[in-house]
Amino acid sequence: MDFQKKGYWWECTECGFSKKDPTIVKVIQQLRFESWNQELLNQSCPQNNCHGILKIAFYRDLKEKDTALVQHIVGISFDDKIREPTDSPFGKLQTVIDFLPMMWEWNLKDSGEESSYFDLKHMSLHNPNVQTLTNIVSLSEKELSRLISIYREKTGKSFLNNI
Ligand SMILES: [Zn+2]
Repeated sequence: MDFQKKGYWWECTECGFSKKDPTIVKVIQQLRFESWNQELLNQSCPQNNCHGILKIAFYRDLKEKDTALVQHIVGISFDDKIREPTDSPFGKLQTVIDFLPMMWEWNLKDSGEESSYFDLKHMSLHNPNVQTLTNIVSLSEKELSRLISIYREKTGKSFLNNI
C-alpha cells in the first residue's frame, strides 16, 4: 500500500491489518499532554475475532521493507525546563519550549528477534512536523538521564539498571 512507502501507519501485531495514520505528530502531542500515557500507543484491532493490538509502524529500511513496531515513546516535557536556552548547542535561538527530546523503543515484526531498539528523536513544538523525527538529536547527559528515568517510570522496565 502506498502509505507504507514512507512515514508511519498503524499495524496489527497479530493479523497484519493496517491503516493509514497521517497524524504521528498529533499522537506525539497527545502523548505529551497526557504525560506519556503509553496506552495511547495501543489500539484494538478492528478485525473480527482478532485480539491483536494496533501499533505504530514504520519501515526501518525502505529497501528491505522490514516493519518496525513502536512499543514505547517517552519524552521530556517542556515543563521539566531541563534545558536553558543558553545550554543549547544550537545557540539561543532554540528555546526550551521548542525542543522536545524523545526516546522511541521499537522492535522488528516477524524477525523472531526478542530485542528492542531505541531511537533518540526530537520534534520542534513551535513548528511540529514529521521531518525532524529523522534528524540527529544531541542531548546533554542531564537530558539523557531524565529521558531514561521517564522511560522507567512510564514502562515499569528496569532499563539499563544492570550496567
Ligand atoms: Zn488484527
